[in-house]
Amino acid sequence: MQSVVVLGGGESGVGAALLAKKKNLSVFVSDYGSISDNYKEELNNNNILFEERGHSFEKLVSADVIVKSPGIPNNSEIIKKLHSEGVLIISEIEFASRYYDGKVVAITGSNGKTTTTSLTYHLLCESNFSVGLGGNIGHAFSRLLISEVSYDWVVLEISSFQLDNVKSFSADLGMILNITPDHLDRYDYIMQAYAEAKWKLAKAIKAEGTLFLNSDDIWSQDMLKIDMVSCEIVNVSFEEPLLSTEDAIDIKKHFQLKGDHNLFNATMAVGVAQRVGLSTMAIEKSLSSFKGIPHRLEFFGVVAGVEFVNDSKATNVEAVSVALGAMDKPVVWIVGGVDKGNDYSLLREIVKTKVKGIVCLTKDDSKIRDAFGSDDIKIVSTQNVMESVGLSMEFASSGDVVLLSPACASFDLFDNYIDRGDQFKKAVREFGKSIKHST
Ligand code: ADP
Repeated sequence: MQSVVVLGGGESGVGAALLAKKKNLSVFVSDYGSISDNYKEELNNNNILFEERGHSFEKLVSADVIVKSPGIPNNSEIIKKLHSEGVLIISEIEFASRYYDGKVVAITGSNGKTTTTSLTYHLLCESNFSVGLGGNIGHAFSRLLISEVSYDWVVLEISSFQLDNVKSFSADLGMILNITPDHLDRYDYIMQAYAEAKWKLAKAIKAEGTLFLNSDDIWSQDMLKIDMVSCEIVNVSFEEPLLSTEDAIDIKKHFQLKGDHNLFNATMAVGVAQRVGLSTMAIEKSLSSFKGIPHRLEFFGVVAGVEFVNDSKATNVEAVSVALGAMDKPVVWIVGGVDKGNDYSLLREIVKTKVKGIVCLTKDDSKIRDAFGSDDIKIVSTQNVMESVGLSMEFASSGDVVLLSPACASFDLFDNYIDRGDQFKKAVREFGKSIKHST
């Protein structure tokens, strides 16, 4: 491989370009949109040529290999054209893996990737190994490999998009947390195609490695039946997460995060930590110091006896279902945004038992009202985050919980889920101050 064209100038693309440069390859970055200033500066500082707001096809087609960023769909015009010209197209994860000979923990799933990847990394940091964290979280895998540190292990969060165009990437330990409908727009609305993309992680586990699977997840278990893998399989039940090798680790006792789903995530992470060779003492110590990450079932404040929870990252129905399941007090639920094809009927039972009021925070509340309007639950709507807090407090009494768990993407009213969660937390703080001043 001599010349590389990197498609996409975000974290993955720039990471791949830096790694290519370090490996003395000729590299060019091409982005159909605009590249952010910080990445442009990085490319300039490293003498890497780039173009934005369009692709020069001649340059692309003459490359030995194209490294595709995960944001670019395989059915985009440029990829289809390059395919028809027979150009080799690989993903950034694949590219990076060709320059790494340490060990890999690879984690995917429709929900829980970031939480479980962060926890696994947190646990492995208690070992004597040098451990890196990256992929779909923080730094691109490629970027990890340009640092001076030589990693014994890297823990990678991997999305389905990053698994598209993976060829010889392999991992020693892996997890598929769950396969439930998400991002179907990228898979022609065919669930099987999405499940097959996720399953590429299973196929990437070395024969002597171990794959942790969710034994209660229908798609994971179906894929296992139709597309066998040669590595060891450890099935962990979502409903009753237990490891047969548990070595007396009482995860419940040491782990602080709420919710059965988090207990499941922790069990998977502990399973991996044990395989890596961590002692029970190290795992227990590290489990208890994990505080969780913002925007995922984040308990962040109490106003007038009402607890507030920011779960802005819950952008699909399954994530909301586990969030509501984790609540042991009456809930005022803030929901809505850009619907990715939700089937709200899956939430009707749990909403009936747990939710006392619904606040729609969205430009379009029609599907939510259709789904829950006939039940005996009060529903109000707003497009203003401050107002959503005030309306929630009209429904809530001391001892209740206000839960922002939107089941939707955020782009109708916010920049992204982080912006939505941050604005929500700010609004709650301001509301808290305003009632303090008025009393
Ligand atoms: P991802 O990186 O896959 O989006 P996150 O860890 O960021 O996953 O969590 C996204 C949402 O999914 C949050 O609302 C979180 O509470 C929820 N969640 C976390 N773990 C699980 C799980 N095992 N099953 C279902 N939902 C989960």
